[in-house]
Amino acid sequence: MRPILKSNKLDDVCYEIRGPAMEKARQMEEDGHKIIKLNIGNLAVFGFDPPDEIVHDMIMNMHSAAGYTDSKGMFAPRKAVMHYTQGKHIAGVNIDDIYLGNGASELIVMAMNGLLNNGDEVLVPAPDYPLWTAAVSLSGGNPVHYVCDEQANWYPDIDDMRRKITPNTKAIVVINPNNPTGALYPREILLEIVELARQHQLIIYADEIYDKTLYDGEQHESIAALADDVLFVTLNGLSKNYRACGYRAGWMVVSGEKRHARDYIDGLNMLASMRLCANAPGQFAVQTALGGYQSIADLVGPGGRLLKQRDLAHKLLTDIPGVTCVKPKAALYMFPRLDPAMYPIADDQQFACDLLSEEKVLIVQGTGFNWIAPDHFRLVFLPNSDDLTDACGRIARYLDGYRRR
Ligand code: PLP
Repeated sequence: MRPILKSNKLDDVCYEIRGPAMEKARQMEEDGHKIIKLNIGNLAVFGFDPPDEIVHDMIMNMHSAAGYTDSKGMFAPRKAVMHYTQGKHIAGVNIDDIYLGNGASELIVMAMNGLLNNGDEVLVPAPDYPLWTAAVSLSGGNPVHYVCDEQANWYPDIDDMRRKITPNTKAIVVINPNNPTGALYPREILLEIVELARQHQLIIYADEIYDKTLYDGEQHESIAALADDVLFVTLNGLSKNYRACGYRAGWMVVSGEKRHARDYIDGLNMLASMRLCANAPGQFAVQTALGGYQSIADLVGPGGRLLKQRDLAHKLLTDIPGVTCVKPKAALYMFPRLDPAMYPIADDQQFACDLLSEEKVLIVQGTGFNWIAPDHFRLVFLPNSDDLTDACGRIARYLDGYRRR
């Protein structure tokens, strides 16, 4: 029989957060091992429950949620997103500019599919949330990575971004707050990105899914609020700020210079129609969440569980010789550096697999986030303090052994 091959559209597509180490962990669990999972930002499985009112409202609305909705989404949740957008000072957004999706993920793929021809380039951060790189590749485009500078709080290196713009560049992706670094960008950086987009007529895709998961009293500013003469596509959703990853509820807002984007917007509308609609129970949840009590503030504020766990994990990791880490200002992750002089790692995927085999701790290697060298990893600080302490102790023990090799 002829072998059945995957499409060559997938040749350059990878998504290593759920890669070989996760598969190995699954097998180890089947064999009865207990694994401490620091690999996925899935809040609910660590006891971070979604707000009760969302769950209650979804249950109440289940009967009315059985039919297809408008392709872009129901009126009331889109209206709620519109108010949210206004609260973030993004001007000129009307209900037609808002698309609801099965998580931001579906909309990211849709946005790239609707834009890119073969060979078009998109500037994507390194490190990035790797769905962006994968979505660009899947859509026939070339992801071109601009560096975020660890020495400068992981802010985007604007000169690097500028150097990498070519006549084929269509767009810049800005993930703020950032996964995996936990960086939160100040207005000056955002303004410089806007200026580049303005000069080179580039679209800005702003992934702001962690915009309420902020520590130390920080405030988030939407890049789309900073100009009206650039086209912005802003993405957000309930997965993180409302601990509802499984409800698959996200949204996308088109704003700014829309007049020249009619054709692209027609394309987005067609893609939204082709997938019929986002799941309706999740749409009901959007409406309730945005209008309700913003309980994430209790988790990230003084005494909050997420804040405590961030501080604990940061201290435990940076106490390990040769490990440094910019303290995250936002989101759920840390991206520590392993000094290559002490840890000469050649293959960080193998490193992650070895750590898993020896210490039963699952992390994701830095190159899985399109980072340039095998000298970082990402850790999710969602397990409770006891498990985090246990996990960091195991990482320390593993690294101690590594140094002595
Ligand atoms: N964008 C970023 C930066 C993320 O970290 C994630 C998930 O981890 C997503 C998007 C996907 O979000 P959703 O669950 O809404 O698909």
